[in-house]
Amino acid sequence: MPDSPIHAVLLYGPEGSGKTTLADLISQSWLCKTPSEGGACGACQACQAFSRARCADYQRIVPVGPSNWIKSSAIYPVPNDDDHRCVPVTQYFRTAPLGSRNKVVAFEDADRMNASAANALLKTLEEPPRYARLVLTTRHLGRILPTIQSRCLGVLCEMPSAEQIDRMLPDLSEAHRTFAHRSPAIASVMRANPEAFGPLLDFAALLPGRPRTHALTATEEFLTHAARVEKAMNAGARFANTKALEILGEALAVRTALGAARTQAVVEAHRRIVGNGNPSVVLDGLFSAILAESP
Ligand SMILES: [Zn+2]
Repeated sequence: MPDSPIHAVLLYGPEGSGKTTLADLISQSWLCKTPSEGGACGACQACQAFSRARCADYQRIVPVGPSNWIKSSAIYPVPNDDDHRCVPVTQYFRTAPLGSRNKVVAFEDADRMNASAANALLKTLEEPPRYARLVLTTRHLGRILPTIQSRCLGVLCEMPSAEQIDRMLPDLSEAHRTFAHRSPAIASVMRANPEAFGPLLDFAALLPGRPRTHALTATEEFLTHAARVEKAMNAGARFANTKALEILGEALAVRTALGAARTQAVVEAHRRIVGNGNPSVVLDGLFSAILAESP
């Protein structure tokens, strides 16, 4: 977006619709010193710093903690909050960019902001310094303040069709194609990290044939696979556990005649882990249920 008067973009759509990828492309084109109509140049100092994740003019803000909120201290300085993961946005935008064309702040799950944080962000959106740029992503547009929506360029991200996925990722294996329909982003990560995802798929394939007594070892094995997924996706443990469970659930459904009760058990385990349940306890229950009918 060279010399565009747009200061803020709000990307909304379901998980897997490419919001994060698009947010990165927009961020880089705003940072890039010599962008063209096609986006960032990929070669300038700003582009190189961005691709090495060492760009001082770019900040990414994500929800944190057990309650999964974007803290007020991410937007404005809060006394006695010693979380130094990022500089508060209001403070960050007080100084001009160091080596890039603009300064960019990207928000993931922007709906996870409390009212005081959202209102403080609104002030920045109303009168941004000329070099300030913001990219917000959300799966829940209805939870974003209308006043914030009205100050952003809204872009709907839709799930790609099967044909579009084939064009984007032409050489996908059958297993990865299954997951790509849920999320092309995850399919790409899976394809790039076979050492992390292959063992999980093998685990899923063999699981239904294992004896009932394996339920507890299955939990340990699953957590080992999930830890590899965590590393490959560069994500937190809870996120990796839920992604690994989704992959397990789909693999079980595709490769085995998984009964409705077992499918329901995977869905229920997923719900409990997302809702902060203890992964070991939840998984012990899940694998006991899946292996209950085994010899
Ligand atoms: Zn560049």
